[in-house]
Amino acid sequence: MPKHRALSAVIAITTATALATVSAPIALAGPDDPSGRDATRALPPPAGENQYVARGRGGAVSSVDANATRIGVKVLKAGGTATDAAVATAAALGVTEPYSTGIGGGGYFVHYNARSGKVQTIDGRETAPAAFPHDAFIDPETGEPYPFFPDRVTSGVSVGTPGTLATWKAATDRWGKRSLAGNLRPATNLARKGFTVDQTFYDQTEDNAERFAAFTSTSDLYLPGGEPPAVGSRFRNPDLARTYDKIAAEGPKAFYRGAMAREIASAVQDPPTTGESDLPVPPGHMTVKDLNNYDVRSQRPTHLKYHGLDVYGMAPSSSGGTTVGEALNILENFRLGKARTPRSLHAYLEASATAFADRGAYVGDSAFNDVPTDELTSQKFADGRACTIDPDQAAEKPVPAGEIDGDPCATDASPAKPDAEGLSTSHLSVVDKWGNAVAYTLTIEQTGGSGILVPGRGFLLNNELTDFSAEYEADDPNRPQAYARPRSSMSPTIVLDDGELKLLVGSPGGSTIITTVLQVLLNRLDLDMNLPQAVAAPRASQRNTAEVSAEPEFIDAYGAALEKYGHVLVPSGDEFTPDAEIGAVAAIEVRPNGNLVAVAEPTRRGGGTAGVVRPR
Ligand code: GLU
Repeated sequence: MPKHRALSAVIAITTATALATVSAPIALAGPDDPSGRDATRALPPPAGENQYVARGRGGAVSSVDANATRIGVKVLKAGGTATDAAVATAAALGVTEPYSTGIGGGGYFVHYNARSGKVQTIDGRETAPAAFPHDAFIDPETGEPYPFFPDRVTSGVSVGTPGTLATWKAATDRWGKRSLAGNLRPATNLARKGFTVDQTFYDQTEDNAERFAAFTSTSDLYLPGGEPPAVGSRFRNPDLARTYDKIAAEGPKAFYRGAMAREIASAVQDPPTTGESDLPVPPGHMTVKDLNNYDVRSQRPTHLKYHGLDVYGMAPSSSGGTTVGEALNILENFRLGKARTPRSLHAYLEASATAFADRGAYVGDSAFNDVPTDELTSQKFADGRACTIDPDQAAEKPVPAGEIDGDPCATDASPAKPDAEGLSTSHLSVVDKWGNAVAYTLTIEQTGGSGILVPGRGFLLNNELTDFSAEYEADDPNRPQAYARPRSSMSPTIVLDDGELKLLVGSPGGSTIITTVLQVLLNRLDLDMNLPQAVAAPRASQRNTAEVSAEPEFIDAYGAALEKYGHVLVPSGDEFTPDAEIGAVAAIEVRPNGNLVAVAEPTRRGGGTAGVVRPR
């Protein structure tokens, strides 16, 4: 691929940080730049419970679910902190969004402390069991990886030791005013009393019906009478209510030790199959000891400056913070203008591909790899990487990674590997009346996780270890390895302006999480969009592959213009996400006057719900 050094050889100016010299940005707008039709989504009016925009004061919550948001707001009203509300909201999502989240999974919790001005994180990512072999995903008969579907996905082998409950405990201890038991109570009541099945829940159950039917425990709960629960019916999960009650009474040891730990390990090692399914369901490696030994990690967040704002994200084992950060830093070299134009979108797509190349080459669990997090999020490195981008022509994909210690313009590093991640997960954002904030993304990986429900306990186990590369290669930072955390894309992000909270955002969507978060940030911080528009705008995702996956509305608006740059756009979605949506954002903005604007999705995933303590 040709280098484009000339592009960066523009007048260097000294930035306010004095640490980095950045090139003058390349202006992308101009008379030769016919803009695509503005595809900012027409926003439907907020209706009923699914109120996707809420404005007001006193605290705010945004999530994909009306019950979960309502519970979060209630906890804030009762004097809880952002952390208390986040834990209560997440516990409620474990009831109403059980195929995306729950105590059988893991996640990343990013916290802003208004008093100290500090952003801190909890890494509650699932961990590979001690006995997890390097060749866990290799078929001995062929020497090749087992197929992703169904072998790796519906499998005990893919279950990582869950971190969600340990995250709730650690967060509540550090930043809560209420007890973990108090934060679990509203979700316990919800599990016991039930919630109304909506179309999304029905569709997700139906899409997973074959997998769920393979397990006695899962089919008993989610396929009563052999069918998904009907839309409009009341769905109760008394086993989960009892599980939450037990945890409330005994603390996390009720889960990580004793009878429940034995039952979890047994469900992994000897999945409760019906014996009537064709799915292979290989047994996994997790033991009671793995559960006993699980602990969260406190990680320094990633940090960079974008347009003078402080952007904080999740450090490795997530690739979210470094990849969103590197792409933003690269885009500091381009003047995007106020409107979405083909040229500015081209810059976004190329910056994203470039950051993904470096993600593939360098990012994995930092406990097992020397991940160059500071370099990847440095302006200097990104400025070098920007010089590989031609503002007129899309590079051939995959683009190679840059050299950390050498010349980042060099293009001879090995090409990035493709990755396969699920499209489930859930993100929630919370701000409390003191101005503390939580951006929390949690997951059980695939929609429906491993498909294995722990008998009698009411929650599904994750299949997060599918996020590892399938094959072991010593120089791959995401190689499958005992005790390691698979690389994630989850990108809970907090933006500060001069130390004050400005914006928090996150999304589900596997590796498209990174591009979704990036687009919301660009839409809001660069382009002329308010937060509801920034969230609703159609999305496209370039993850260093030959094709850009894009929502149909994006293709309608910009496809033809972007093809002229050499981009190949294909509709997002597959047999598992036929509706072609990318992501499900939950965001909150603090306006300069202190007003809060909480925003969820107007339509994706059936629409989310935003709430505030004192509506304006
Ligand atoms: N397993 C993915 C990750 O950690 C998230 C899955 C999803 O969003 O569906 O990045």
